Amino acid sequence: MSALAQNYKRKDLSFSKGKGSYLISSNGKKYLDFVQGIAVNSLGHANKKLVNAINKQSNNLWHVSNAFKIPEGEKLARKLVKKTFADSVIFQNSGAEATEAAIKVARRYFFSIGKPYKTRIICIKNSFHGRTLAAIHASGSKKMTEGFGPKIPGFDHFSFGDHKRLKSLIKRNTAAIMIETIMGEGGIKVVPEFCLRELRKLCDKKKILLILDEVQCGIGRTGKFFAFEYARVKPDIVPIAKGIGGGFPIGAVLMTKKVARGMIPGTHGSTFGGNPLAMAVGNAVIDQINKKFLKNVNLMSNHFISELNKIKKKYPKIIEEVRGKGLLIGLKLHNDQTDFIKDLMKNKLLTIRAAENVIRILPPLNVKKTEIDLALKIINKVCKEKDK
Ligand SMILES: *Cc1c(COP(=O)(O)O)cnc(C)c1O
Repeated sequence: MSALAQNYKRKDLSFSKGKGSYLISSNGKKYLDFVQGIAVNSLGHANKKLVNAINKQSNNLWHVSNAFKIPEGEKLARKLVKKTFADSVIFQNSGAEATEAAIKVARRYFFSIGKPYKTRIICIKNSFHGRTLAAIHASGSKKMTEGFGPKIPGFDHFSFGDHKRLKSLIKRNTAAIMIETIMGEGGIKVVPEFCLRELRKLCDKKKILLILDEVQCGIGRTGKFFAFEYARVKPDIVPIAKGIGGGFPIGAVLMTKKVARGMIPGTHGSTFGGNPLAMAVGNAVIDQINKKFLKNVNLMSNHFISELNKIKKKYPKIIEEVRGKGLLIGLKLHNDQTDFIKDLMKNKLLTIRAAENVIRILPPLNVKKTEIDLALKIINKVCKEKDK
């Protein structure tokens, strides 16, 4: 029996090596990896520039305390600020920490302007903001919170699309609305652009903050650096993680200078957050995600999604919908997706589930067209077998 706790339902498969879009299993078989650590390995496995960056940094300096200046972190923060709406950054180590830091920034902002009663955060029911105690209660999912009481107060929930309920939840003590720009775990549900714009207006009118969780959909995953850029809105606070580290654990919260003013010395911290080793990798990731890179993400996405729609047309009884943006793609089946994912895996294509019968397809952002075509061939084959 495994010495690991049983909190994951793991597949009977492990790997010894990765290169680009591929993984080699411990028994020597080659898999096309369209999970990529769940949108984490944004540049694929063993990216040369990342390998060089981590090797170089590891020979010099791994870790120093945030009691000192960390130039590698200054550099990455400056690049993030230059690329985005943000004026300042706090580094963390994971997505859940980043979303929690986002909540802290929002509350602290209102505290700092003399409105300490504004603390409540409005979230979408069955969203996903991570697995820490506050984050599971922010997510508002029965499955994730069951057995982990007492309930962490301070969160209100509305169902995806229920604008009336959302508006009714905004009270004198509301601090912010926090949603995923695209619900990842929730089934690749894209928040429409007009909704994001209305949400921004609503937050302005009610003088509350807009937090957009881009932990999964950010860092080029949708073909823009942030998914909300499609709607041309400016959030106040954005937690990121997954893709920014390219496989190294990095989280961060990005914010405007207005809200950053509350985060005075001593208000927040992390032992590991923003250490030189992590920052060296983060810098090497962001340096590769430029305009030309994003253009290629869009090209690959257009090809992938249009071909998936052709497969859907051919097998309308199996595939209900092709969802998503960029290379954050969801294949919604009519029935439970478990067997389908198993069959893809038998054919050496790795994908991962999301809610609502959705199969998530997450290639690395530098995926090649030939690799997408191979995935399409396998998906088509499994559809054909299932269509009998
Ligand atoms: C994965 C994810 C998180 C949590 O990230 P961890 O690194 O697992 O803590 C938070 N929000 C969203 C949208 C995510 O997809």
